[in-house]
Amino acid sequence: MEMTAQALDAISVPAFIIDRRHKILAWNHACELLTGVRAIDVIGTDLQWQPFYETRRPCLADLVLDNTTDDQLAAHYQQHGRAQFAFDAYKAEGWFDNLNGKRRYLVFEAKPLVTNGTIAGAVEMLQDITEHKEASEQLTLAASVFENSAEGIMITDIHNRLVSVNKAFHAITGYGVEVLGCNPKILASNRHSQDFYGEMWRSLAESGKWQGEVWNKRSNGEEYVVRMNISVVLNEGKVVNYVGMFSDVTRDKEVEERINFMAHHDFLTGLPNRVLLEDRMSQLVARASRSGEGFAVAFLDLDKFKLVNDALGHDIGDKLLKEVASRLLAVVRATDTVSRQGGDEFVLLLTGMHTAHDLVLVATKLIRSLGRPYVLNGHRLVVTPSIGLSVFPTDGRTPAELIKNADTAMYHAKNSGRNNFQFFTEDLNIQAYDALIMETSLQAAIPAQLFLEYQPQLCLRTGQLHGLEALVRWQHPTLGLVSPDKFIPIAEDSGLIRELGRWVLSHACEMIRQTGLKIAVNLSPVQLVEADLVRQVIEAVGGIDPGLLTLEVTESAFVRDFAKAKKMLDDLKKTGVVLALDDFGTGYSSLSYLRHLPFDYIKIDQSFIQDEDSHSIVLAIIGLAEKLGMSTIAEGVETAEQLAFLEQSGCPTIQGFHFSRPLGGPRLAEFIACHRRPEPALSRP
Ligand code: C2E
Ligand code: CA
Ligand code: CA
Repeated sequence: MEMTAQALDAISVPAFIIDRRHKILAWNHACELLTGVRAIDVIGTDLQWQPFYETRRPCLADLVLDNTTDDQLAAHYQQHGRAQFAFDAYKAEGWFDNLNGKRRYLVFEAKPLVTNGTIAGAVEMLQDITEHKEASEQLTLAASVFENSAEGIMITDIHNRLVSVNKAFHAITGYGVEVLGCNPKILASNRHSQDFYGEMWRSLAESGKWQGEVWNKRSNGEEYVVRMNISVVLNEGKVVNYVGMFSDVTRDKEVEERINFMAHHDFLTGLPNRVLLEDRMSQLVARASRSGEGFAVAFLDLDKFKLVNDALGHDIGDKLLKEVASRLLAVVRATDTVSRQGGDEFVLLLTGMHTAHDLVLVATKLIRSLGRPYVLNGHRLVVTPSIGLSVFPTDGRTPAELIKNADTAMYHAKNSGRNNFQFFTEDLNIQAYDALIMETSLQAAIPAQLFLEYQPQLCLRTGQLHGLEALVRWQHPTLGLVSPDKFIPIAEDSGLIRELGRWVLSHACEMIRQTGLKIAVNLSPVQLVEADLVRQVIEAVGGIDPGLLTLEVTESAFVRDFAKAKKMLDDLKKTGVVLALDDFGTGYSSLSYLRHLPFDYIKIDQSFIQDEDSHSIVLAIIGLAEKLGMSTIAEGVETAEQLAFLEQSGCPTIQGFHFSRPLGGPRLAEFIACHRRPEPALSRP
């Protein structure tokens, strides 16, 4: 036995031997290291259990001696992983929570020692495989996390081919194992630009990670959005893999958008609510402060809405509010905001308002549109609005101030009999009133209070009278002479321009008949879309040379429907009249369209003539017109210097106060008599 004990010490496997009476015979050096128990302290005792267990129990070697059956063995090692009898050895393994102060995993084995055919004792060998066990448990854990994670996980190799994906990946993307070996771009939708992916790769290269939201497409074609985290896996400084982890946030996004929408919109009408309105207003204030461009706030309240609700019920009340919302939207421009403040109060944000007149037009349209009867559930009702207007920056510089003042103005509108609008600033009310008065009295004015003046045009080459431009005048009984700049827009908006235009046309033609001079007539864009304009012109021209009539049209006529306006011009051209493009350069001057339109003359707007800095533009326009086979007329020539410049630049015709103001009556007759081309003298033989 002594020999055996020495031999045992020489091997590195921890081991001990017990005799038949379970007393320790040998406890090798490796066993001392493993258990922290010295051989001299235990040899001769039966304390072999002590380093391993808290209370006394048999060790595997003891069980060998006792010839324990398989079942009993299993019972002893319940809390350990495994115990079994194999060949001539008992084997077991498992965790020991406190072996020499540490948690260790041992694989151990016991065998009987047989001398002369009888069992003399047993040897037990122990092997500490804690590190190995821990590593493999970690791996199992990682694999289970990978597989069972709720997040989709995909791993690609350096060539960006998918090498591993988990269950959630399949569930989210709809793709099975067939994706392995593919590039993850098969998951992509086409919502992102090349730049987006470029940025992703740049970030991966620079920082080793990227995160963001990505729109992908499931195998069934459905698009979805994931929150994605990609990281680079390095091994000894080299990229070996990319790991992408993602969760499907499509629903979250929808909910988020829905919540966001609800927070900013009115539930009933879907219009922006107060929060969104004030937000947009703040932006507008910031922009308008920079650009100086004005905007206005309209506070609109339905008159006697409560009566509708009380008499017909909330269902009809709600329907009415929805209908009001859609009529409001139809009146304002796409860039404007219509919001509902609650109840029957709406606040509108009107942009691009330059003058009080612009606002009057919108407010009048709003009143007209809302005042049309409503038919709801078989009920026909008329509901009118009261509108208060405040203007940035005169009536306030903050959203709150502007809304408050528009509200105040709205109360004025209620107090002045409802179904009207009021400005917060009194001065604007007066201007607006003028405009309204004008519209009603204009109706009565056509044609009784209208007359024409004619402004002569000078041919620079011959120094003779080129022709006349007819300009309409309105002699109002109390307001006096009203400028066409004031009443033409009102006539256009109310539709009165058609009647007015017809009147001007026939009177101008009458003038041609009397004088034989070339006369130009201004056409409003509203007239240009009238179906029977060509017939009107043919009728007016009746009998005279159509080449003596010039029709002047501004660029704004082509903004809304270019094709339609062009068709009309082409048709007019066929009647033999002359066509001039008026106020060239002030509107939407796109040179490219000019080529396609049958104009004979371009009238250069007076602003270019009067501003010396614009003279290079004038030269360019003259050159361009020549190239297009058109002639030019310079408008608003007021000084000798301007005239000299135009003579030099080869402009054929001019018009302006320098040559003559618009004239009427005897002064016109006198002017014509003086400037008429002298009859060629007849030479007598
Ligand atoms: P427009 O067609 O550009 O007419 C020329 C305007 O410039 C006229 O103003 C004329 O008096 C003015 N003007 C002429 N020479 C000079 C000058 O040297 N200096 C200055 N500062 N102004 C000059 P008016 O008569 O007040 O007409 C204004 C606008 O009203 C016209 O501009 C035209 O757009 C419109 N209009 C006038 N008559 C009619 C008409 O019968 N039908 C339509 N649809 N519009 C008309
Ligand atoms: Ca004109
Ligand atoms: Ca003009």
